[in-house]
Amino acid sequence: MTNCIFCKIARGEIPSQIVYEDASVVAFKDLSPQAPVHVLIVPKKHIQSVAHFQAEDKELAAHIFVDVVPKLAAQLGVTDGGFRVVLNTGDDGGQTVHHLHVHLLGGRKMTWPPG
Ligand code: AMP
Ligand code: ZN
Repeated sequence: MTNCIFCKIARGEIPSQIVYEDASVVAFKDLSPQAPVHVLIVPKKHIQSVAHFQAEDKELAAHIFVDVVPKLAAQLGVTDGGFRVVLNTGDDGGQTVHHLHVHLLGGRKMTWPPG
């Protein structure tokens, strides 16, 4: 999508601190980190949110959660201590960038419930 900031990051058109990339996914440091480790895992394909996944996205969704999340958690050193994955979805879910992204947060004790 032309005007989407995460599409632009995925295309390398605007700078980001990339920590992982493969054919279908890019992960980069959040600009406003909420924890010592805070990265965003973003499919290169523009999908608005998890509410907009299509049947054809099953492999991509599995790739993100089966391959990328655990690999990145290990790479970032938070597997043993634990971490949180967050998918803010829609306005009530607090989604501000309307291109699906998985927050991976760690390096501190998280609290519950979220605000
Ligand atoms: P959400 O509120 O779930 O939509 O999260 C959007 C996240 O994207 C926020 O944590 C922002 O800090 C982050 N963000 C926005 N623009 C950028 C950018 N250019 N590079 C890295 N992170 C960004
Ligand atoms: Zn996009």
